[in-house]
This record gives sequence, structure tokens and C-alpha cells, in this order.
Amino acid sequence: MTPPPQPHDAPTPALPASGEGGHMKLTFMGTAGARFMVAKQIAASGGLYIEDGRTRMALDPGPGAVVQYAKRKVDLTKLDAIVISHRHLDHSNDVNVMIEAMTEGGFERRGRLFCPADALEEDPVVLKYLRRFPEEIVKLEPETDYSVNGLTFTTTPRHIHQVETFGFRFGDKLGWVTDSAYYDGIAEQHRADVMVIHLVLMQCRTGLPHLCLEDVERIVRDAKPRLALITHFGMTVWRAHPWEVAAGLTQKLGIEVKAARDGMSLEL
Ligand SMILES: [Zn+2]
Repeated sequence: MTPPPQPHDAPTPALPASGEGGHMKLTFMGTAGARFMVAKQIAASGGLYIEDGRTRMALDPGPGAVVQYAKRKVDLTKLDAIVISHRHLDHSNDVNVMIEAMTEGGFERRGRLFCPADALEEDPVVLKYLRRFPEEIVKLEPETDYSVNGLTFTTTPRHIHQVETFGFRFGDKLGWVTDSAYYDGIAEQHRADVMVIHLVLMQCRTGLPHLCLEDVERIVRDAKPRLALITHFGMTVWRAHPWEVAAGLTQKLGIEVKAARDGMSLEL
């Protein structure tokens, strides 16, 4: 078998002055999903970065997130919020260092952390000593609206996953289908103009609560976004070349599907 190609960073275009009512900009600080891709850092695992007007938000800072943000010269002291979809390591590993960065080592009480309650309870992923650093820690509830500095997002009903997990919608602009097994309603609940979907497995496997290619195909067909972006690739997807998988979906569904790349940015 030929080795998978090494990921390379897509160029990041400069952000135009957007201000109020400007475009939302989404940057992939990583595209690796599941433990082997992450452990070997075959692709980065820093989650998603959203810039919208004055608001800066880091989503799911997995292992190496702080490195990915530093590499792209993002000033983490300007972050308004860190959002954790669930407590699994590939989504939350760097949450503590990101909180320290956002709060200037805890010297500036600022910013917010949004996470499921179980990220704070038994065997917590958020260290206790730095919980007083952010202005607020918000325990996410299903189907609830939250607002940060004028940017509103909504949680979906709880996903089917080993731990408390939520998907998100940012108005009609962006839907983010994080880790979950497929369930009825998942397409509708995350429907948006642009949808980011975590494709972990090529073949569906009972007992593994992750989306496989067939699930993603069904979600895209049902939700009909303008653009679907697949990311969070497991090893089988990586070996199948995500961009070829995406091209196959585009051809089959007549809906644009793209594979995310580390460092890729787009305006929504
Ligand atoms: Zn997970």
C-alpha cells in the first residue's frame, strides 16, 4: 500500500476588514479524527477557529491546538470563547493551555468556556485551578441559544456518542456535525448553508458511534447544504484520500462537497 500523502497547509488569505455584519471566517486548525490519526499527527488536531466581526472563537482544541494557533499568528489573548463539543481527547486536550492563553495566564479574567457538564465533573478535562480564569464557564444544554459578543450559536439535541456531545448551528450560515452515530433528524438539526461534517470511518461499524461514509452521504442528501466540508478523518478515510472521497460525493449527490485541509480558511 502506498503511504498516505503528507498534509500540507493551504494558504490562508488575509481577513478583509469585516466589522459588524461582516462575513464569518472559518479556519481548520486540524483535520485529524480518532486516535491513530491524532497520535501520529498525520494531520493536525487543533479544531476549528471562527472569526465573525469582533468575535473570536476556538472550537474543540484538540492535541496541538496551541501550536496550530501560534503557527498562524492568532493572538489568543483576543479569544472571546472556547467551545468544547465533548470531552474526548481529540476535541479537548488543549483546553487548559488555551484557557491560560485566553486569560493571559489567569491574570486577565476574560473570555468564556462552553462545554458539556461532564467535561467538568468526574475525571474532568478542565483543570480546577484555572476554572476561575475565564469570566464564565457555561455548561451546554441541548437545543439552547448562546451568544458571545454578538455571535449567536445553538446546540442540537444530544448526539449519540460515548460522552455528552452536542452539535452546533451558527444561524443559517454554519452547521457543525461533530462526533455522533447516525440518527434520524441529524441532517435537519444541523442544516445550514455550509455544513462541517466529521467523517471518521469509510465503512460503517456497529458499536462505533461515529459517522461513516454512507451516513455522511445521507446527511448531505437530506440537508442539501450549499457546501459540505468533510473533516476529522480517521485512518481509513485518510488512506482513501479525503479529496477523492469528497469528489465522489459531489458527483453522486450533485452538491458541492470538499475535504478540509489543515490551515484551510473560508469566508461564509
Ligand atoms: Zn468523540
